[in-house]
Amino acid sequence: MDLHYDTSKLQMLFSPEQIRGRVRELGAEISAHYEKLLAEGEMVLVIGILNGAFVFMSDLIREMTVPLETDFIRLSSYEDHLSSSSKVVMLKNFEREVRHRHVLVVEDIADVGLTLNWLLKHLKTQEPASVKLAVAVDKSARREVKVDLDYVGFAIDDGFLVGYGLDAARRYREFPAIYTLG
Ligand code: 5GP
Ligand code: MG
Repeated sequence: MDLHYDTSKLQMLFSPEQIRGRVRELGAEISAHYEKLLAEGEMVLVIGILNGAFVFMSDLIREMTVPLETDFIRLSSYEDHLSSSSKVVMLKNFEREVRHRHVLVVEDIADVGLTLNWLLKHLKTQEPASVKLAVAVDKSARREVKVDLDYVGFAIDDGFLVGYGLDAARRYREFPAIYTLG
């Protein structure tokens, strides 16, 4: 085994080949949707949620066959112990104007649902023409806030995932497969 990838503590859930195949399918499905929607000269505005989504987004946009541009927002959620609830904080906003644009949000994981719900509200105040959500993994067991996911790479129940952009204490993001950390 390649020394760089010490996967002894990890269980592989989705291999690089599985991910590649699924992302290719998603790219085709998403492109078919926008091909019908985009007017002459229009581009899809793909907004990735930093940090975790950057690997999935870079693969996904290269499987898309419609004109697009990219932007990023950085969000972080934390436990507010005073109100015993989770809060989303925006560390960096996207930079493009979203008004009247067709927006595709790309996220690594939908878990509790708070992050995507927050971003949807944030986007909708700015009157985009449409918003679609694409996630690499839909993790449904802990969902508290309902979010309509339009494109899902893989659906699982629960488990802490690393690799393919996902970290644990800043490690494993560069690993090409998705693993559960036991
Ligand atoms: P939520 O849907 O809970 O508001 O937020 C989802 C965010 O929590 C994701 O963007 C991701 O950063 C993080 N997250 C949720 N589940 C996992 C996981 O299994 N592994 C890692 N590395 N991050 C996760
Ligand atoms: Mg995240």
